[in-house]
Amino acid sequence: MHKRSEELFERASSILVGGVNSPVRAFRGVGGSPVFMSRGGGSHVEDEDGNSYVDYVLSWGPLILGHAHPAVVDAVIGAVRAGSSFGAPTLREIELAEMVRSYYPSLEKLRFVSSGTEACMGAVRAARGFTGRDKIIKFEGCYHGHADYLLAKAGSGATTLGRPDSRGVPASFTEHTIIVPYNDVKAVERAFAEHGPDLAAVIVEPVAGNMGLILPEPGFLDSLRNLCTHFDSVLIFDEVLVGFRIKDGAQGHYKVRPDLTCLGKVIGGGFPVGCYGGKKEIMSRVAPEGPVYQAGTLSGNPVAMAAGLATLEELGKEGVFGDLENRTRSLVAALRKEAESLGESVSIVSVGSLFCVFFADKAPINYGEATGTDSQRYGRFFHSMLKRGIYLAPSAFESAFMSTAHSYKDIDKTARAFRESLQESAGGK
Ligand code: PLP
Repeated sequence: MHKRSEELFERASSILVGGVNSPVRAFRGVGGSPVFMSRGGGSHVEDEDGNSYVDYVLSWGPLILGHAHPAVVDAVIGAVRAGSSFGAPTLREIELAEMVRSYYPSLEKLRFVSSGTEACMGAVRAARGFTGRDKIIKFEGCYHGHADYLLAKAGSGATTLGRPDSRGVPASFTEHTIIVPYNDVKAVERAFAEHGPDLAAVIVEPVAGNMGLILPEPGFLDSLRNLCTHFDSVLIFDEVLVGFRIKDGAQGHYKVRPDLTCLGKVIGGGFPVGCYGGKKEIMSRVAPEGPVYQAGTLSGNPVAMAAGLATLEELGKEGVFGDLENRTRSLVAALRKEAESLGESVSIVSVGSLFCVFFADKAPINYGEATGTDSQRYGRFFHSMLKRGIYLAPSAFESAFMSTAHSYKDIDKTARAFRESLQESAGGK
């Protein structure tokens, strides 16, 4: 059934590290070898053996309109015909920036980069440059890309590999990073009591999507806001994953305004885009306005800008967000019903167009609880779903994504496969 994928993986492994270009793709979190995809359309992807799947990975989140949406394809073709990159300012950068700010008014000024990693690096550097301080607070299990000082207790890929910290990162690079458990206000207060005047920033995923999906407990984000205000530290919301997956973002939904925000994924519509931005007085420290240096050859690339603009324009059409959230709710309700009827201890967490299946009695609230869920069972369940034409993240510590292309027929198919896969994966079979 996956003969060609297996052959390709063998070939890839002889030239690409681990046979992949990003670790979690290698299926080490669920066992077996990865499926090589050849094409995608709407809610479906097809692999090199011709198997078709309902896709809940969606390139790890960016494809909120599904694969090869005609508006995005047309925009990209139009842009590339006019020249793929100039390394000079273009109109589309302004248009996308204005569009992003219409959803995220806290981004008074922003800078486009080419990945979420770069966005987080830029935001932390701007915060340090603005405050003249070095230390940052980061939460256990939150992932902010692979910058050295942010790779401490970084969730998902690293967790899947069982190596929460990376080799190759000198201890001195993380000495300014203070790690605190997610949702633990008391621990954050203790960190501020000890380091407050040295703290440049708190960086947080306001909805955590890299240790499975974990929602902020009531009051958690407000406490971060109050502490940062009190100590003149910069509050950074990393909404790279959650951005546009909740209407108005996590900051609109939970009504907490950060000083800086990082975005990525959806704003590039499947092309490499990230951005960071926020308060004018902080962003005006970034070059060329200020002394905090940051640059990129392909930043604001016209093709990527065109894909992002087309994506956000489609999303902004009347009723599109609401419909996407309704479909996600229907899917989650259907899955919960199947689990309950089988008496399974499954906890399904969801917000906006994100969801996540945990094999646990109750939804985890932090990294320790997330890694305490049954990831072996998830591995068996994942393969049962794959066999039935449902492509989920090949790791128990990732979120699943819906798109506007997912139909009620897809939802029914997923619910049926879910029931059978719960049965098949039970009891260590
Ligand atoms: N921040 C968050 C919350 C993410 O989920 C990710 C990637 O998954 C990143 C940052 C890094 O983004 P990228 O993979 O585009 O570098």
